[in-house]
Amino acid sequence: MSETIFTKIINKEIPADILFEDERVLAFKDISPQAPIHFLVIPKKAIATTNDITAEDEALVGYMHRVAAQIAADLGAAEQGFRTVMNCNEHGGQTVYHIHLHVLAGKALGWPPY
Ligand code: 5GP
Repeated sequence: MSETIFTKIINKEIPADILFEDERVLAFKDISPQAPIHFLVIPKKAIATTNDITAEDEALVGYMHRVAAQIAADLGAAEQGFRTVMNCNEHGGQTVYHIHLHVLAGKALGWPPY
């Protein structure tokens, strides 16, 4: 898999506003926020799309959701709620081919997304 900009963020080759980091994941603010709160949770393991998640990644992807909820709580967004989104491929609107969980919060979000 070719390297993406998120690998550069993981490797600290380019800066990001980091909210949380451990050996498995990194969470940072989206550079182009689509809500008052908008951050991304990514695995340090490079997985291109949701289609590429394997059985061995199941715990990792679950952990990404737990980290998302914990950060949302830390930012005061848990009670009113938030949205998690993982875009996949062209029709899903994916632009960076390293899976990432978008976490959007801070206002009532519209639905459906079209
Ligand atoms: P996608 O469209 O693939 O679901 O989402 C990619 C997200 O990554 C977009 O919301 C975009 O704003 C964000 N993004 C792209 N490049 C960078 C970057 O260099 N830094 C940060 N913090 N976010 C980025």
